[in-house]
Amino acid sequence: MLRAVYPGSFDPVTFGHLDIITRSAKLVDELIVGVLVNNAKSPLFSVEERVKILEKTVENIPNVKVIPFEGLLVEFVRKMEAQMVVRGLRAITDFEYELQMAQTNHKLEPELETIFLTTSLEYSYLSSSTVKEVAAFGGDISQFVPHIVIERMQEKMDKKGECKL
Ligand code: ADP
Repeated sequence: MLRAVYPGSFDPVTFGHLDIITRSAKLVDELIVGVLVNNAKSPLFSVEERVKILEKTVENIPNVKVIPFEGLLVEFVRKMEAQMVVRGLRAITDFEYELQMAQTNHKLEPELETIFLTTSLEYSYLSSSTVKEVAAFGGDISQFVPHIVIERMQEKMDKKGECKL
């Protein structure tokens, strides 16, 4: 059974993430989307919210599971009994950080391989942070994220009394 973990913050999930999930799910028996509890980044959505949104987003892909984690990625991968980590590469700017992480993880867990999928061209510019920025200024984010993200962001901004999407 070939199992891979695709880790990330997914704050929020974008069509770029979804593209990597859909494509990597075809390469393995089971894909676990690992949602990082990253309080240092003070996320817009709590980890529970991010998990729920992702579950809804991937409900039509039968071999994908969404599981939160904190701490070391290699520990989570071990616990999940996975053999591979999947990451997406958008541009050369992602490369240095991703290379460092992959090599560090390989040192920590020599059996662990990281595979990289290059972004589909139409999503190469897309990141969670730019989506949040556009939304905060009232821009239309419907071409960047699934509909459920727009709904949840709208609720959050209404609650905070910030500008509408
Ligand atoms: P992290 O905080 O770990 O970078 P992200 O949620 O920002 O988490 O990203 C998770 C993974 O998805 C990373 O490997 C990132 O490079 C990849 N990714 C993010 N956006 C895109 C995109 N538009 N196309 C392809 N891969 C992407």
